[in-house]
Amino acid sequence: MTETLLALLWRLSETDEPIFLWGRQAACHFGPAFDRLLASGVLQECPPATEWDPCVDCSCGADARIIQFREGASWALCPHDRHRDTRLEDHDLRSFQVHPDSLVGLIADALAQRKGLSLLMPGVWLIEPSEDPAAIVVVPSRGTLSQTGLEGMLREARSGDLLLLAPSIAATERLRFTRAGIRTAPLAATTSMSSVGLLTVTLPQMAVEADAHPALTVFRGARRVAWGDRQITLSDQPTRLLAALIEQAKTPRPHLTARDVEDVIYGSLAPTTARPGRDIVRELRDALTRGGLNRAEVGSLIRREGNRGWRLDCQGTMRVEP
Ligand SMILES: [Zn+2]
Repeated sequence: MTETLLALLWRLSETDEPIFLWGRQAACHFGPAFDRLLASGVLQECPPATEWDPCVDCSCGADARIIQFREGASWALCPHDRHRDTRLEDHDLRSFQVHPDSLVGLIADALAQRKGLSLLMPGVWLIEPSEDPAAIVVVPSRGTLSQTGLEGMLREARSGDLLLLAPSIAATERLRFTRAGIRTAPLAATTSMSSVGLLTVTLPQMAVEADAHPALTVFRGARRVAWGDRQITLSDQPTRLLAALIEQAKTPRPHLTARDVEDVIYGSLAPTTARPGRDIVRELRDALTRGGLNRAEVGSLIRREGNRGWRLDCQGTMRVEP
């Protein structure tokens, strides 16, 4: 199967600008969709070529060949041997510059969110929908995507649900973003173009229920908590506290007082080095924040309610694994 025009453009957009589409590559895609991309500025035609690649298997040593028009056609001339001249097709002389920013603009248009489109940093676009709480970040270039700390910069710029549309990446690479609570989807898979050049965007269905109410699972032995997509490692006491909060949340009296927390951690024989319950709660909250949740999320997940103490306010399912 030949690559679609849109897939070709996304693939070219993975490299650094300026990006060129050669007439020979483009020829099989000429038609209404192509014309529309020209009209919308995604593609910009360059002046016709005046030089051609040097001939293969030739010792003429020329870096480039002159193009000449003769006998009703264009020819790339070999300075040494006329028999090596190459006859060129009309489309060979054409080339187009690809503008990824305009291509990203078409995504915003397809989502009817052109007003919400902004450039977050070079090569990184944010589409902030007016009503949907989820925002979309588009990064067509691989170089930009692999930039160290990109996930942190994105998180700083926008909290909440974030969907990153980018070139397809390996699972190990995707983990960087997943850990920061950023969902990812490949550009080529989420966009398609009709034969007349109308772009359609199909965003991956996030399990709305599941993501609005992420499941919370504590793995006691592994000292790890999974909250939705996020995996956070905890130390011993916060792990035990979180497990206790989960168990308690399932009872009619879901709160743990500072004293209860101390009992959970130390039992009836508190050592002299025992820390007050609120310190352990703080340690748990800090660990969750370091793990990628924001303070507000943590504050509403582990809620302090007056002198009744703390309770876990989790709408999703909660489990404690051994
Ligand atoms: Zn030659």
